[in-house]
Amino acid sequence: MLPAGHKFPLGKYTKLHDTLEQEFPGVFILGAPATTDDLLLVHDADYVRAVTEGTLEVAAIRRLGFPWSESLVLRAQRSVGGTLAALSWAMQHGAGGHIAGGTHHAFVDHGEGFCVFNDLAVAVRVAQRDYGVERVAIVDLDVHQGNGTAAIFAGDPRVFTLSLHGEKNYPFKKEASSLDLGLPDQCTDSVYLAHLEVGLRAVLDFRPELVLFQSGVDSLAGDRLGRMSLSLEGLGLRDAMVMDLVRALGVPVVTTLGGGYGRDIGPTVQAHANVFRRLVRTFG
Ligand SMILES: [Zn+2]
Repeated sequence: MLPAGHKFPLGKYTKLHDTLEQEFPGVFILGAPATTDDLLLVHDADYVRAVTEGTLEVAAIRRLGFPWSESLVLRAQRSVGGTLAALSWAMQHGAGGHIAGGTHHAFVDHGEGFCVFNDLAVAVRVAQRDYGVERVAIVDLDVHQGNGTAAIFAGDPRVFTLSLHGEKNYPFKKEASSLDLGLPDQCTDSVYLAHLEVGLRAVLDFRPELVLFQSGVDSLAGDRLGRMSLSLEGLGLRDAMVMDLVRALGVPVVTTLGGGYGRDIGPTVQAHANVFRRLVRTFG
């Protein structure tokens, strides 16, 4: 449990699950927690041990933004495990989604911004190890830069990281993704989508064999942390553009959640649900 009033919106996960379960009965499977072996494909052994044994330093806990507890450890392992289950599904059926994960602020040796382990990065390494995939693109459309992901894959020619984010928003020290498109505060649909088109063209040129989509919706107007002004319709167009790209490439896609912290959580849940509705509509 988190302290009352904590900024992390645990309630949205339940609401999103219930919304989608009602529309697509039986669509959910529960992924197993990630194993330590999988986590070690990306993360430092000392860091993984400190998280699981609860020996993180006070400063490391503060950076993470969560108090340590056994349930935090399980949630972090499940958050990666769910993305790996979605990956496994996508490799068989073409598309998979996880209604958690997208923890793009986790680095090799530390976590920050509510992100303990980097599920996207672990999924890349598992795809390369288990599924014979070499080139992977990560399309990160959370309003905050995917700094952990960018740092993990810096200099790796097999992984293309695209990040569209608020230039002035957290994290204040940005890492270098393969392509960073920093956008202004109060960014509107038309400006956002024009930049997205540029970003997706670069992904297309990279010719990935797998796409991971971090589909954070904290760019929605009214978000407490996003500082952008996208509409639900604009976000829907965003999702459609990503799915169209994946279809054009003819490769599997794994969709994860990401940020979304509406003052009113209703539109945030709608925007998240729309991503998965679009995924189902595109790939069946
Ligand atoms: Zn975010």
